[in-house]
Amino acid sequence: MSKRDYYDVLGVEKGASEAELKKAYRKLAMKYHPDRNKGDEQAEKKFKEASEAYEVLRDPEKRQQYDQFGHAGMNGGGFGGANYGNADFEDIFSRFSDIFGGDIFGGGDPFGGGRSRGRSRRRKSRGQPGADMKLSVSLTLEEIAEGVEKTLKVKKYRSCDECGGTGAETDSDFETCSTCNGMGEVRQVSKTMFGQFVNVQPCPDCRGEGRIIRNKCSKCRGEGRIKGEEKVKMNIPSGVSNGNYITLRRQGNAGVRGGEPGDLIVLIEEKEHKHFKRDGDDIYYDLMLSIPDAVLGTQVEVPTLKGKAKVKIERGTQPGKLLRMKERGIKGLNNSGTGDQFINVKIYVPKDLSQEEKKHIEALRGNDHFDPESAKDREKGFFSKIKDVFA
Ligand SMILES: [Zn+2]
Ligand SMILES: [Zn+2]
Repeated sequence: MSKRDYYDVLGVEKGASEAELKKAYRKLAMKYHPDRNKGDEQAEKKFKEASEAYEVLRDPEKRQQYDQFGHAGMNGGGFGGANYGNADFEDIFSRFSDIFGGDIFGGGDPFGGGRSRGRSRRRKSRGQPGADMKLSVSLTLEEIAEGVEKTLKVKKYRSCDECGGTGAETDSDFETCSTCNGMGEVRQVSKTMFGQFVNVQPCPDCRGEGRIIRNKCSKCRGEGRIKGEEKVKMNIPSGVSNGNYITLRRQGNAGVRGGEPGDLIVLIEEKEHKHFKRDGDDIYYDLMLSIPDAVLGTQVEVPTLKGKAKVKIERGTQPGKLLRMKERGIKGLNNSGTGDQFINVKIYVPKDLSQEEKKHIEALRGNDHFDPESAKDREKGFFSKIKDVFA
């Protein structure tokens, strides 16, 4: 059996926008919804066909594949073409929870995905949920290396201390909503040729809360929350990097009249370090050596993430040599081991010389040991790059 074109299935133009696709699919899904078409095989087929088309077209990558290769591109191409032939409805509903859950939380959330679960959990509580918040915290490499506890000052809605978050002057100031009889939702029963079905919506008068307030709290004016500032303590593990974020559940804005608080999303920012460049859990330090120090060897002090350390520079140290200080880097995320500190050796070549200095250097020119060609043959391991200084 050949498949119908996905755009035809949804009844949209080829260039349909995401919103148009969603709208078209929702219309079809509601029409052929299994609850409304009990035992109607034709409707079930149409429902699955529409779900399959929507699954593909809402995904930009799959859609492009489909536009280019048609149905052939969806199956053999390893793109996991959707096929709802045997899928059960539960699976379809969970995939499109944004549509079947009744609420669409599009936009505004930079982290996308995976958040609708938390939302639907929240809807069960009284009141209305508070919004999530984002803020960023700047960390030094030293803090990142070991992990750190931070106290954040968060400006947000917090529960009203006058009414305890209820929004009412006293507990007896509540009245059961007469529109919905305290149910928080209104039902409309309609009869169609396929049987009767029920449409449930939040009550418009009490906004789904089931009760209304006779005397509103004077401090929060019935909101149950006020603007304020709160200190939030958080532990940041070692090894985090720029762009990581940590979600603190229920630490965002307080909900309206006792609704679930939102989450606080903390974005990690890494401050630039005076001495070090970071590469994963390793850090790099540029060490500038004078020509005599590189040639004759010396001992230098270098900064580390935990104060200064002495490092021996062997005679004949080459520019570009990497000295490794084992496990002096960053403690990796989730105990993944500790990185190293690398010292990248650079050699300072002076531009201006006194007459005296010039004479000394001139005397070395052409000298056997200063001639790169003969040195190459003589010294083995001339180019070996990494050397451990702290084993
Ligand atoms: Zn209050
Ligand atoms: Zn009501």
